[in-house]
Amino acid sequence: MPSKAGLVVYKGRPAKVENVMSVTEVIQGGCRFCGVKLRHTFVDLGMSPLAESWLKLSQLKQMERFYPLHVYVCEHCFLVQLEEFESPENIFSDYAYFSSYSETWLQHAKAYVEMAIERFGLNGGSQVVEIASNDGYLLRNFVGKRIKVLGVEPAANVAKVAVERGIPTLAKFFGEKTARELVSEGTQANLIIGNNVLAHVPELNDFVKGLKILLKPVGTITMEFPHLMQLIANNEFDTIYHEHFSYLSFTTVENVFAAHGLALYDVEELPTHGGSLRIYARHNEDASKAISQHGKELKAREEAAGFTRLETYLSFSERAKETKRKLLDFLIRAKRERKSIAAYGAAAKGVTLLNYCGIRTDFIDYAVDLSPHKQGYFMPGVHIPIFHPGKIKETKPDYILILPWNLKDEIIRQMACIGDWGGKFVVPIPEVTVYPDISARRGRGRGDESS
Ligand SMILES: [Zn+2]
Repeated sequence: MPSKAGLVVYKGRPAKVENVMSVTEVIQGGCRFCGVKLRHTFVDLGMSPLAESWLKLSQLKQMERFYPLHVYVCEHCFLVQLEEFESPENIFSDYAYFSSYSETWLQHAKAYVEMAIERFGLNGGSQVVEIASNDGYLLRNFVGKRIKVLGVEPAANVAKVAVERGIPTLAKFFGEKTARELVSEGTQANLIIGNNVLAHVPELNDFVKGLKILLKPVGTITMEFPHLMQLIANNEFDTIYHEHFSYLSFTTVENVFAAHGLALYDVEELPTHGGSLRIYARHNEDASKAISQHGKELKAREEAAGFTRLETYLSFSERAKETKRKLLDFLIRAKRERKSIAAYGAAAKGVTLLNYCGIRTDFIDYAVDLSPHKQGYFMPGVHIPIFHPGKIKETKPDYILILPWNLKDEIIRQMACIGDWGGKFVVPIPEVTVYPDISARRGRGRGDESS
């Protein structure tokens, strides 16, 4: 059951964070993988609302729930993790995020499917299951090739859209229970896909156990998740939010899968979400796939970078604080010069960043987002209104703060028109950077992804 400990009613300041911290040792539970008591802080971003809880105008004068965004590292298995304060049902059951709205992410999905069909030899007799399949944006690429698909998507509103688009989708959470139900109904998978779901699972052991059950004897599991090594290297503390329970290194994921009889036989490093891993897993007993060198090399790099030593994790906190000071410094100077500032992309990482830094409409006039599911709403906690990107042309702001920095090249290309009135882009992570020379940035673009 979700703990309600630490629930604080928002009164305009991050109330009593010091007091909350002083009792955390008492209220802390165990590591979500190995159960060892959590005692060490990775980073403490104070109190924050759920990142996807967009507010309607009528909700702005109501109480809002804030939860601790306090990340711990397990001294035993080095799993970096948040406590569970809100049930997954409350977080994900009516999720506003639809993957289909990012063009680079759709291309990423299509390229993945082409690779998978060839590499795993999938055909009309194969069964593909995607967990957290969203609106079916990825699976539809298999349907076009006449391969059987099934989506498992806990957000009922999103699953409904997928079904309407002809993608068979089960509106359920995935774990041992769902896997057993599927197997008893005769469904087992040649390929199980999970993109950006492993980190979102509160019951990590139950989830991986379910993978083991659902996978055919010579099947493959691929999972993509943000790589903790990149989070640390690039100071991506704003990718921490309540929906995102675990922050994963290759070494730790290998241990988690091994505990459930699954071996990682390959891994790729991807540029998505600020640096992700795509792991390839199989049953321990499946001798048809040799273990590649990539995993061994990556593990050696993680070890060399200190990922098996506690001190490495304990030094991260100070970098988040320094970024907050630098961003506020920039915004205060800009406002003193009477500049106007808008934000682009009401992404979850923006909610973390703005709440941590205490940036509201005193600095940012409004945010824009391409998703019609966010337009007309307000960002949680900071109450910044969200409009269609067309608002930028109307108001001609001096600065656009790009919140989903992973999409910065795409956004800078799309919004190059701000150069017409001398507007500039500001990217907060890894360092506060202003992009005045728009023309030089045109057409560059890295193969990035969704927000
Ligand atoms: Zn642990």
